[in-house]
Formats: sequence, C-alpha cells, structure tokens
Amino acid sequence: MDKTTSLLPEMHQVHQKLETVRGKLERGPRQIAAQERVLKQKEEERDALKEKLTELRKAADGKTLQLKSNEAKIQDLKGKLNAAASNKEYEIISSQIEADEMANSVLEDEILEALDKVDQSQQDIAAAEEAIQEQQAKIKATEQQVNETKEGLEEEASTYEAELAELEKELPGTMMDQYRRLVEAHGAGCLTEVENDACTSCYAIISPQEKVQLNMGKVMLCRSCGRIMYQNKS
Ligand SMILES: [Zn+2]
Repeated sequence: MDKTTSLLPEMHQVHQKLETVRGKLERGPRQIAAQERVLKQKEEERDALKEKLTELRKAADGKTLQLKSNEAKIQDLKGKLNAAASNKEYEIISSQIEADEMANSVLEDEILEALDKVDQSQQDIAAAEEAIQEQQAKIKATEQQVNETKEGLEEEASTYEAELAELEKELPGTMMDQYRRLVEAHGAGCLTEVENDACTSCYAIISPQEKVQLNMGKVMLCRSCGRIMYQNKS
C-alpha cells in the first residue's frame, strides 16, 4: 500500500482532534462573554429600579409636604374661627376646616400607599443586587474553570499541530497551496473519506477510474466539493 493511503486518514484524524480541542478553547471565552451580557442586563434592570425608587420617593415627599402645608392652613383657619365675628362666618370657616381635614385624610392614605411602594421598590432593588452578585459568582467560577483547563488544551493543540506539520511533509509539494486553502476554508473538513464510492462530504459518486487511482494511493480532489479524498482501508 502506498504511503498516502494511510497518511490521509491519519491526517484527517489529527485535523479532527485539533478542531475539537480548538473548539473547547473557544467555548470558554464565549461562555464567559454570554454570562457577562446577562450580568450587564441585570445591572441595567437594577439601575432602572433605582431610578424608579427616586421617582417614588419624590412623589411620597411631595405628598408629605402638601400634607404639612394643609395642616398649617387648618391651624390658620382654626385661629380665624376663634376670631369669627358672626355665626355665618363661623359656619363658613368650620365647613372649610372640615373639607380640608377630609382632604388631608385622603392625602394620608395616599402617603401610606406611596411609602409602601417605596418599601417594595427597595426590596426589588435588594433582590436585583442579589441576582447581580450571583451572576458575578457564576462568571468567576466559569473563568476559574476555563483557566484550569486552558493550559492542558493548549498543550494538546500544539501536540496535534506538531503532528500535522510532520504529516504534511508527506504531502506532494505541488499540493501544498491547495491544501492550505482547503484547510483555511474547511478546517478538518479539508479531507473527505470516500465510502461506497461516494464522497462523504458532498455525496458525489467517484468514477471507476478515480476509484482505481485512489486505491493506488494517488492524492486526488473531489470533483464536486474540491476536498482531498481518501479511502479508509482499515
Ligand atoms: Zn465531495
């Protein structure tokens, strides 16, 4: 058997292993980036809640201020009541005080409601802060895990790269440019196994003549997809 008949399947295997390891190396940073996007979203949600809290406080403060000014007004009216010159005037001022006290009672309810909302909003912010901390811890754990495996994976990748460099020396020199282009375009898919006389990448059927040449160990490209074909004889 010609050397290339075992060379190409071996190359394909190493390419595939290298691609798997590179995939694992890329997955870590991608995972971290995705988790950081979630963190950013949670922070934005917290910021929006804080803005809402400011608004709610402002509303509660406004109503409290109004209540105080109404109370002052009632005090003032009570003073005038004592100095009323006639029954008629007394009645007018009395009903005014009554109406103002009624309005204040409504206002007090509204203030209680507004303070409840402030309270709820503070709880929402605390929950959001907790979610942020949880997400930060998650990112830290992922980073640690990625860092722990990174070195080993990088070593594995360099081993495969070295193995490939050795194997590539066996390829016909005239093929190298084409081979590099195929690697660039398809990665591990630069090579394709022929099974039942068909390219396993594009399913094109090879001719009887190509089959003979393949069996003789000639390095050939699939006429349909352009990948380097090989016949696995194992
Ligand atoms: Zn093909």
